[in-house]
Amino acid sequence: MKIIVCVKQIITDNQTKFWRAGIEAALCLKKENHAFVSIFYLGNESAMSQIREAIAMGCDNGTLLLYSEPDSLDVSSCATIFSEWIKEQEYDVLIVDSDIIQIGILTAGMLKIPAVSYVYEIRPIEQQHTLWIRQQFEHYFQNLKIMSPCLLSVLPKQNQSFYMNVDGITKAYSIQIPVISVDKILQQKGIKIIKTHQYNCTQKESRHLGRVLSVPVDKAINAILELLLENHILNNHSTTNVLHDQTETLLSQNSFSGLESQIEFLEVEVHKERNINITEASIIVSGGRGLGSAEEFENLKSIAKLLGGAVACSRACVESGWMDAAFQVGQSGKTVCPNLYLACGISGAFQHITGMSGSKLIISINKNPAAPIFDISDLGIIGDVKVILPRLIEALQEHKK
Ligand SMILES: Cc1cc2nc3c(=O)[nH]c(=O)nc-3n(C[C@H](O)[C@H](O)[C@H](O)COP(=O)(O)OP(=O)(O)OC[C@H]3O[C@@H](n4cnc5c(N)ncnc54)[C@H](O)[C@@H]3O)c2cc1C
Repeated sequence: MKIIVCVKQIITDNQTKFWRAGIEAALCLKKENHAFVSIFYLGNESAMSQIREAIAMGCDNGTLLLYSEPDSLDVSSCATIFSEWIKEQEYDVLIVDSDIIQIGILTAGMLKIPAVSYVYEIRPIEQQHTLWIRQQFEHYFQNLKIMSPCLLSVLPKQNQSFYMNVDGITKAYSIQIPVISVDKILQQKGIKIIKTHQYNCTQKESRHLGRVLSVPVDKAINAILELLLENHILNNHSTTNVLHDQTETLLSQNSFSGLESQIEFLEVEVHKERNINITEASIIVSGGRGLGSAEEFENLKSIAKLLGGAVACSRACVESGWMDAAFQVGQSGKTVCPNLYLACGISGAFQHITGMSGSKLIISINKNPAAPIFDISDLGIIGDVKVILPRLIEALQEHKK
């Protein structure tokens, strides 16, 4: 099987993030099925080090599609560049990271091959040129069969990490990596692309500074209760769960590129745990790495139950495998604006804050007085979540009586 992983360089704060999901999915297939993996990287010269890193992880070769200002390329231009280059290549499967899903879908359309997005798992099946695919949606998984050649846009998967190894590093620095000028490809094909200009207009006014309390635990718990009462979160709020139970079977909503005959729908598996939409919750009890373990989320679940809310988390908890990605708040997760956001053991990185700063009332618990979450909190409690959360549960249970 010949796999091509297409990567587009995305530069933030002068740094290129290494998008690994596509490479890891391809390497997983290679490990189990002796595939040959090539990486086509659309970016500037600085992308070369990531191509070498991908080879050191196990990719067989790489090509740099060189363009000096990759950020100025819009979706359609990227798809044009990829498809024009890929047309000349032999391949069975194209893989893109889900972060460039639109580029992937458009590339598949241009190449006239079927595409499936939100791919969580890929397995070749005995039938030649056929793959079994598991797609992940918010509340369910969907299983499909797809004929190759095809394009798959893959989601990051836990427990699928590949690392550079000594043989890989030796190979990465000994082989010649071809550099293809994108301008040349476009010139040869007579294609013109339009550059996009970007302006940052997302700066928001900062919130007023909250009170930061360093007091005995009982006083801190009282301060939380007072604020909850003041904001009608206690007493005035129904303690029954505000979230809807959506257990009915869902119909598929795919992103096939009009080549359905090459995709066979198999089944839908409703995922009960994922069946909660945190964006609908008016009260969110959210945990971060400071909780220390998945077990500690039980305390958050108890508090959420007592307040009639939902549990959410930071990305650190998803990456640690403590919580499912459906519960992640932030830039690459969900944006929420509940009446109460109780942040427990969350530092307040801007990627997290982006997803919750619109909350009406923010209460945070963190043992570090300098944690940035305090800057946007209405009430900040400096303390250990392991001490405060059980006491808060007791106080809420007492209040309910
Ligand atoms: C492209 C990109 C997208 C991202 N998208 C998101 C996103 O959508 N959502 C998101 O959350 N992050 C996102 N991140 C990651 C983000 O930058 C942070 O790494 C992440 O938010 C940190 O999570 P955290 O606050 O749980 O962990 P940490 O930053 O490690 O903070 C843990 C906090 O817990 C406190 N703590 C430790 N022990 C205790 C204790 N016993 N009691 C009380 N407090 C304690 C510590 O003082 C610390 O402040 C993204 C990053 C990138 C690069």
